[in-house]
Amino acid sequence: MLGKRKNIDQLASNDWDLLVIGGGITGAGVMLEAARRGLKVLLVEQRDYAWGTSSRSSKMVHGGLRYIAQGDVKLTRHSLLERERLLKELPGLVERATYLFPLRKGVFPGRWPMKAVLWLYDFLAGIRDHRYLSLQQVKERAPALNAEGLTGAMCYTDALTDDCRLVMRTLLEACGRGGEAGNYLQVTRVERENGGFTIALHDLANDQTGKVRARQVVNATGAWADRFSGSEARVRPLRGSHLFVDPQRLPVNDCLTVMHPDDGRPVFVFPWEGVTCVGTTDLDHPQDMDIEASASSQEVDYLLKLINSQFPGRDISRDDVFATIAGVRPVIASGKGVDPSKERRDHAVWGDNGVVTVSGGKLTTFRLIALDALLATGLIDEATHRRGQKSKAPMYSPVPAAPAAVDDFLHANQDDDDFFAWILSQESVQHLDDLMLRRTRLGLTQPRAGEAILQRRREQIQAALGWDDTLWDTELNRYLQIHEQFYGVPAVTMENRKAG
Ligand SMILES: Cc1cc2nc3c(=O)[nH]c(=O)nc-3n(C[C@H](O)[C@H](O)[C@H](O)COP(=O)(O)OP(=O)(O)OC[C@H]3O[C@@H](n4cnc5c(N)ncnc54)[C@H](O)[C@@H]3O)c2cc1C
Repeated sequence: MLGKRKNIDQLASNDWDLLVIGGGITGAGVMLEAARRGLKVLLVEQRDYAWGTSSRSSKMVHGGLRYIAQGDVKLTRHSLLERERLLKELPGLVERATYLFPLRKGVFPGRWPMKAVLWLYDFLAGIRDHRYLSLQQVKERAPALNAEGLTGAMCYTDALTDDCRLVMRTLLEACGRGGEAGNYLQVTRVERENGGFTIALHDLANDQTGKVRARQVVNATGAWADRFSGSEARVRPLRGSHLFVDPQRLPVNDCLTVMHPDDGRPVFVFPWEGVTCVGTTDLDHPQDMDIEASASSQEVDYLLKLINSQFPGRDISRDDVFATIAGVRPVIASGKGVDPSKERRDHAVWGDNGVVTVSGGKLTTFRLIALDALLATGLIDEATHRRGQKSKAPMYSPVPAAPAAVDDFLHANQDDDDFFAWILSQESVQHLDDLMLRRTRLGLTQPRAGEAILQRRREQIQAALGWDDTLWDTELNRYLQIHEQFYGVPAVTMENRKAG
């Protein structure tokens, strides 16, 4: 368990084998793979766990059909094998989901090319789980879908998760195996000294500074990676945004892949934790990375246009959107200035002055990425790396004394008494946004930022976190402001109005 958060002095009393910078899925994976091998590992995250891209993905644990289409069979195969492993190890948190790829007259790819791709996709995963659905069958499963030119659909399976809970589950496992983690601990400098590293930290929870020492450092800061890599910039930050839509207004049963009417890009519309999720966009993100990413008004319009072209009877507007979320993908740039959607999605590991930097890749392949990063530190050798890649040994054990919701999150009632109490005592909640946007997703899946739930749970939260009324008011204002600014629905701008 993460338990009580430690201050810098307490953390400095240890000499760490490994310090991991970044509490997203990559950092959590490195931490777990190191802790599993008996290394003394500390992970620090500048904001909250999974605050970066790892709470803002499309939630798919998948091989990625587009990677096959781009000819990247190796990445697809590795991803699919990791998908199957996670499905087996974390049922209730990583769940098989049905995907529909609607087929339309005269639109590529048609039934037979899709069938060939899906055959290969299933073959690489070692399953057989795709079939053709007739027009009538598609209409039964997705009655609101635009029927113009529709001829049927290809149906296959992939997996969905809660990316944030996957990070938390991985951190909990790593801490259970002797690792240590701290949120709101920002690395401000890394210096090589006496054959190891001295790392300067700023504790943002109580505004203290201090230093810790470690034998090796892994920089797993995703889209922020260039700040500590010591090499020339390699990350091309690409923003992707999603809408969380009222499920009463846009109900869907399956994950649908539909094409945007303007540019033909595939976009997912899928059921997730009780709401309908729509995304993603794919744009360069030149904005300051110290400011939380948010969906622009143009991106909201783009996604609404997609919805209304694919579900024409629904007339979905900004009023039907509970929340938005934007993530910055750490794509390793080809340097060729290609269209964002054409950049490859694999990870890279590189080093300078001993700091190992790992960035790019996918949520799905975090275990393999972690092994590559550990190999580069020299903390594991080639043989251990090879064995790790092929190993079928389980990564996760049950979390002792945890309520079922921790392992069965996708089915759980997130507003459950025991679950709430456990999160508040065990998962290092520092602010209300940690609780509402990441430990639970109530701030995204409930109308009006889930404020009604917060008011009902006010007493429990104050008692558990030791907040008096003044602090409660400060926290509530902070949360509502963050929600409105970065997770809300931006208004229509004059520019959009003219363009529309
Ligand atoms: C829109 C979108 C959709 C996606 N969909 C999918 C999908 O469906 N399936 C899939 O497999 N992958 C998907 N991905 C990719 C996946 O989300 C990312 O590859 C993954 O989350 C990256 O994790 P990370 O840990 O490397 O980075 P992050 O999650 O961003 O973690 C890096 C962390 O480092 C922290 N940090 C930065 N600087 C410091 C510092 N100085 N000190 C301490 N901490 C610091 C940051 O705060 C951040 O939390 C998607 C990505 C995007 C953007």
